[in-house]
Amino acid sequence: MSVLVFLDQSEGIIKKSSLEAANYGAKVAEQLGVAAEGIVLGNVTDDLAALGKYGLKKVHTVKNDTLDHLDAQVFTNVLVQAIAASGATIVVFSNNMNGKAIAPRLSAKLKAGLVSGAIALPDTSNGFVVKKSVFSGKAFANIAVNTPVKIIALNPNSYNIVTADGTAEVAAFAATVDAPKITVTATNKIVGEVPLSEAELVISGGRGLKGPENWGLVTDLAKLLGAATACSRAVADVHWRPHHEHVGQTGLAIAPNLYFAIGISGAIQHLAGVNRSKVIVVINKDPEAPFFKAADYGIVGDAFEVMPKIIEAVRKLKGA
Ligand code: FAD
Repeated sequence: MSVLVFLDQSEGIIKKSSLEAANYGAKVAEQLGVAAEGIVLGNVTDDLAALGKYGLKKVHTVKNDTLDHLDAQVFTNVLVQAIAASGATIVVFSNNMNGKAIAPRLSAKLKAGLVSGAIALPDTSNGFVVKKSVFSGKAFANIAVNTPVKIIALNPNSYNIVTADGTAEVAAFAATVDAPKITVTATNKIVGEVPLSEAELVISGGRGLKGPENWGLVTDLAKLLGAATACSRAVADVHWRPHHEHVGQTGLAIAPNLYFAIGISGAIQHLAGVNRSKVIVVINKDPEAPFFKAADYGIVGDAFEVMPKIIEAVRKLKGA
């Protein structure tokens, strides 16, 4: 019996959301008195032994070029083999894009109960109960998992990493890797921007900014802070900003440490994608804007007057 954590990598580096999953998995293992192990698929340049700091005792690697790109069916079949070989009874994912693609398939294949969007450690005092967020973060549910193999997909940024000294054993796992049904012919990467899905700081603009010519108010602050930029759907729909920046129910769901919203009303569909942010700052000229109800800090004011002052103040603070 052990805990197995799926370690998601991008260009050979383990993603931060997977480090959270690793640390969470190690804590679950500690609760149950078992060991936590990890598995990483594809070619990795990261120092995997250093994952011991996150509590993993062992990291299994499956080096194979076809695993450098996600094919959820192929990944699932490799994980099924790893789970059988390691005897893992609890499998932990990050509930990120790849976790969302693989965990449900694995759940169906193994007839294993899945809690996606977990936000807390399991309560093992009476069975195995995991708290998750539901209705786009508006409520919580406690899910009892009764199947022999249990799968947890942890919401990114919902578990604080605590590291300690430790080195993980790194061992190659000989898995049969199916031929992928998907062929990646080209990868077009957005360069020169902080990727939104992994960003810790996000500066976002809405229709209150009146037009794309005013986006300097968003991008100048983002550059100063090393933040990613985002926008409301209304903004992406009129092509003021690209659709990959659109956050919300029908866009990307993010959970940064800071979400800074400028001229966004805070419609429920927008909040659905950002309400897991640790700190929300809202600038809106309408004191009745719904976003203020979700904000930790708010400024009632005209963005065109407030933002230049904020940018200037940050510039001075940074000595830029
Ligand atoms: P507006 O609603 O026009 O709000 C602009 C805000 O700017 C107002 O609050 C105004 O007071 C403020 N403002 C105006 N001028 C200034 C100024 N000078 N200074 C400061 N503040 C100013 N939306 C999303 O964002 N993401 C989604 O994923 C999403 N999915 C949807 C799914 C469905 C099925 C539906 C029906 C809608 C969805 N929407 C989504 C749309 C959503 O309902 C809102 O229409 C949208 O979020 C509004 O965008 P906005 O706040 O930028 O614009």
